[in-house]
Amino acid sequence: MTTTVEAGVLYVVATPIGNVDDISQRAREVLAAVDAIAAEDTRHSGRLLQQLQIDTPTRALHEHNERNLAPKLVKRLQTGESLALISDAGTPLISDPGFHLVKHAREQGIRVVPVPGASAMVAALSVSGLPSDRFVFEGFLPAKTSARQKRLTTLANESRTLIFYEAPHRVLDSLRDMATTLGEQRHAVVARELTKTFETVHDANLAELADWVQQDSNQQKGEIVLLVAGAPAPEPDAVDGEAQRILQLLMEELPLSQASALAAKIAGGKKKPLYQLGLVLSGEG
Ligand code: SAM
Repeated sequence: MTTTVEAGVLYVVATPIGNVDDISQRAREVLAAVDAIAAEDTRHSGRLLQQLQIDTPTRALHEHNERNLAPKLVKRLQTGESLALISDAGTPLISDPGFHLVKHAREQGIRVVPVPGASAMVAALSVSGLPSDRFVFEGFLPAKTSARQKRLTTLANESRTLIFYEAPHRVLDSLRDMATTLGEQRHAVVARELTKTFETVHDANLAELADWVQQDSNQQKGEIVLLVAGAPAPEPDAVDGEAQRILQLLMEELPLSQASALAAKIAGGKKKPLYQLGLVLSGEG
């Protein structure tokens, strides 16, 4: 099927995350046919376009000018021009510029068409061996240690697979913070330089991964996705230590039925597992 571009349409085009052969046939055709390409970094994208022998004019759209430029680009679309949006690598808007342009274009009734392709988070998840039916993409963690630890703490009980982008010079600190906040034993994966010469996908628990990255400085280079297994579901009827302590104290003064009901109220849990535990503790269970 040959792609024709339509007037007044904004195409959001994914580009490769390393291996240039991952560009789709449709992406090539759209990039060659549109009136102009909005690119995160025109010099960087210029190299890709040159390799693809595409000479469509480019216009820089990055996080610093996007809010100002979006209305101007939408006006061009309204006069019937077709535009493509690309970022340095992968899918635009995924930890990349483009949100304001797409939002504004849609608000003005412009048709926005995806030309899908690579994204590092999906590529990493697809080879990680971690559960992929439900996952959370967290983008980049905060650069400052305290803010990073705070963010990780809010994710400690998240049961879905966690996906992060990380800069190479922060990967070790992030893994150490993850081990502290999410647990040293939590299974995780480092996916580095995907589709490139030094592609590496390594899994271990968080403490082991941090040691591995520390010992091999090559693992602190290039582009990195970190994936962490979700928190294990709490046992539905588990009784925590504090509830057990309260139950035991109350059992010294009250019949088990009352002690377990009261302990459940005080500790904020269910009566039944406390009652069953009480039976065991009193040698009746
Ligand atoms: N828009 C891109 C996408 O769809 O994946 C992401 C752009 S974001 C600014 C760049 C980050 O993506 C890198 O710091 C790294 O975390 C991740 N990344 C990009 N390419 C990668 C690759 N080839 N291997 C591993 N991670 C990659």
